[in-house]
Amino acid sequence: MRPSKRNLPKLIVGLVLVWGGIGAAPAIPDGGRAGPASSGPADLKLIEELVAANRVLADQGVLDGYGHVSVRHNRDPGRYLMSRSLAPELVTAADVLEYDLDSNAVDPMGRSLYLERYMHGEIYKARPDVKAIAHNHSPSVIPFGVSGVPLRPLYHMSAFLRAGVPVFEIRSAGGPGTDMLVRTPALGRALAQALGGNSAVLMRGHGAVVVGTSLPQVVFRSIYTEVNARLQAQALSLSQNVIYLAPEEAQRAETTMDGTVGRAWELWKRKALSKP
Ligand code: MN
Repeated sequence: MRPSKRNLPKLIVGLVLVWGGIGAAPAIPDGGRAGPASSGPADLKLIEELVAANRVLADQGVLDGYGHVSVRHNRDPGRYLMSRSLAPELVTAADVLEYDLDSNAVDPMGRSLYLERYMHGEIYKARPDVKAIAHNHSPSVIPFGVSGVPLRPLYHMSAFLRAGVPVFEIRSAGGPGTDMLVRTPALGRALAQALGGNSAVLMRGHGAVVVGTSLPQVVFRSIYTEVNARLQAQALSLSQNVIYLAPEEAQRAETTMDGTVGRAWELWKRKALSKP
C-alpha cells in the first residue's frame, strides 16, 4: 500500500514500534507478562521478503483475508518473524514481529496476534530443517482434507508432495469441542506431529500448512499445492485411473523445479508489489 497522508502517522508509529521492538529490552506486552528479550535486529532483506511473500500469496489467490506466513529469524533459530494479526495483503515491514518458539511476541505493544501462531513455533521446534511456513485456507485443498482421497502429485510442479500429504484431524488432539483453530501450543504440537517430515499437511475442514527451506520455496509450494489439488479433482472427475508421478520421476522433478523457484518468485513479486 502506498502511504497516503492519512496513513502516514500510522506508518511512522509502526516503524518506530518495529525499531523499538527489534533489539530493545523486554517490554510488558498485553496480559502484563514480560515478553522475551529480542535476539537482535532481523535482516531487513528477510523482512522485505516476508512482506513480499504475504503479498504474493494473496495476489495468487492462496491467501485471502486470512492465513499467515512466517520465516525463521536469521540470527537465532529459536526465533521466527511474522506479522501481527492482519490480512496478508496489508502486511508491511512495520507489522512484522519477532516471536520465540513458544509463540510469545517479543514486543507486541498491545497489538493483536494471530490466534493460530502456535503452529509456526511448534513446527520450527520439531523441524530444524524448516526455515519458512505458510498456513492457508486455499479452497481446492479442502476436499482432500475431508474425503479420504489422498492429495498426490500429478505433475512436475508439485513433485515436492511426493512423500505424501497427511491430514491433521483436530478431533484426535483437541476432542469434539474445538472451534477448528490451532489456538493452543498442544494443538500446534499435534499438527507438527501430523506434518512429520513432509512438505505439507492438510487440516481437516480448515486448510493446509506448507513448509520449506526459504520464503520463495514455501510460496512456490503453497501455490502449487493449491494448483495440484485443483488439477487432481479435475483429473479424478474424468477418470478413476489417474496416473501420478512415479517416485523416481517425482524425486528428479523436485530437484529440477527447486532450482527454478527464483524465476517464478521474481515474476510473482513484480506482479504483487506493483499493485497499489
Ligand atoms: Mn486457519
